[in-house]
Amino acid sequence: MAIAKQPAGSDTRPPFLDGGVKRMLIDGRWVEAASGKTFSTVNPATGQELARVAEGDREDIDRAVAAARRAFEGPWRKTKPFERQLLLLKLADLVDSHLEELALLDTLDMGAPLSRTRAMRLRAVGMLRYYAGMATAIHGETIENSLPGEYVTFTLKEPVGVVGAIIPWNSPTTATLWKIGPALATGCTVVLKPAEEAPLSSLRIGELLLEAGVPAGVVNIVPGYGETAGAALAAHPDVDKIAFTGSHLTGQKIVQASAGNLKRVSLELGGKSPDVVFADCDLETSVPGAAMAVFSNSGQICSAGTRLFVEQRIYDEFVGRVAEFGRGLKVGPGVDPDVQIGPLVSEAQLERVTGYLETGKREGARPVSGGERYRDGELAKGYFVPPTVFADVRDDMKIAREEIFGPVISAIPFRDVDEILRRANATPFGLGSGVWTQDLAKAHRLARGIRAGSVWVNCYQAMDPAVPFGGYKMSGYGRESGLQHLEEYLNVKAVWIKTG
Ligand code: NAD
Repeated sequence: MAIAKQPAGSDTRPPFLDGGVKRMLIDGRWVEAASGKTFSTVNPATGQELARVAEGDREDIDRAVAAARRAFEGPWRKTKPFERQLLLLKLADLVDSHLEELALLDTLDMGAPLSRTRAMRLRAVGMLRYYAGMATAIHGETIENSLPGEYVTFTLKEPVGVVGAIIPWNSPTTATLWKIGPALATGCTVVLKPAEEAPLSSLRIGELLLEAGVPAGVVNIVPGYGETAGAALAAHPDVDKIAFTGSHLTGQKIVQASAGNLKRVSLELGGKSPDVVFADCDLETSVPGAAMAVFSNSGQICSAGTRLFVEQRIYDEFVGRVAEFGRGLKVGPGVDPDVQIGPLVSEAQLERVTGYLETGKREGARPVSGGERYRDGELAKGYFVPPTVFADVRDDMKIAREEIFGPVISAIPFRDVDEILRRANATPFGLGSGVWTQDLAKAHRLARGIRAGSVWVNCYQAMDPAVPFGGYKMSGYGRESGLQHLEEYLNVKAVWIKTG
């Protein structure tokens, strides 16, 4: 595997990282935490501090929720759809013109290579333009009722209110926009809590929101830890909905915390997605496809196709080729534009992933490539794990059952369609899934048979703002993107008018 050296000039810091404390956005102003506390955010490629960030807690959340409530009940409530559309289009233009900077902040803060973060332009800007379009397309319906007498009945779609948005670190810019976009389109207000590992691009987007003219209090951004700021937001009695993305364990806590005021909840959680390769697949596209279904973003993608099921007849050849592909990827600090695989986000994540590597070996899986973190040279200073392929994996092994969230493929052989459907579905999760075949009948059978929110055939992780994304089973409920995403932020009110 090629190992990149840090290129000259790659320590360039965007102007946003000016050495000052990064404050939180409440009611249109940048403020310190009520406690005065700050926390450190670190570059995972070097282990060095990038910035200190205001550490929000309950009191800050209270202030942010109060600001969001005031904004929701103030003039924002009366803005016309086309005005919200215009705001979203301005924000889209600002994100477009600052994409390089946001890409660099994501890269520095959570490690993904520039080759990946720069490529988010279409998705980030496209999402905002999609929600801008939807802002003027929200409508209720008139319904013919059968009551005696004369009644007119129709429905109104109304914004659900104050939304608490809690996001993970694995794609900070797009995760931020994915929550804020539908809120602005529907007329909700937001308190966003970024992940403590990577809060910088959310805060920079906060500046762009103000520049776009989003009124004070409509979007508030409170960085801080999950157990404090996040928990306070999830339990807050004046929050109407939580839009959460993260692990299923935190998702369960969010549901419990929401019980106090029975707020609405949508959950985008993790997975252990099956990626099924039939012997009739096109090897030229399915080898890199199946490899990058896991190695992209160092495996830190919720829908990564980590259970790689390969038809027995081509198992050895296919697994060998995927391992070889992994060895050919360039690993290094994400600021090197040629790097394809960056570090894991944090030391904690490194420990978690290396723990799974050890467990895999102990359980009898055979590492065909990778299998250990880098211990020598420059890469030993950061949180780097090479693309790893385990062969001889059985369904009951821990590495085949639990989400690792690292660049680790568990390759498992199978024999026929009925068997693979049963085994692919033998998981408590249901987020993504892949099928590689040239046989249309097999593709259709699996597309219908797999219990997961997305099935990708002869591709993996394709995403579009108009196409719904979300989970079955313990991968969560609710959908993001698509028409259904707007509905998650809307209440339906029935109006009855007796006319005779
Ligand atoms: P995490 O659940 O630990 O943290 C996610 C967010 O929740 C962070 O902002 C964190 O501070 C906050 N949080 C933690 N404890 C909390 C609590 N008690 N109350 C309220 N908030 C709390 O997840 P992570 O490790 O940051 O992210 C990785 C996980 O996210 C993986 O499981 C991955 O699959 C999942 N994920 C899912 C999607 C999706 O769209 N389905 C996308 C990205 C990541």
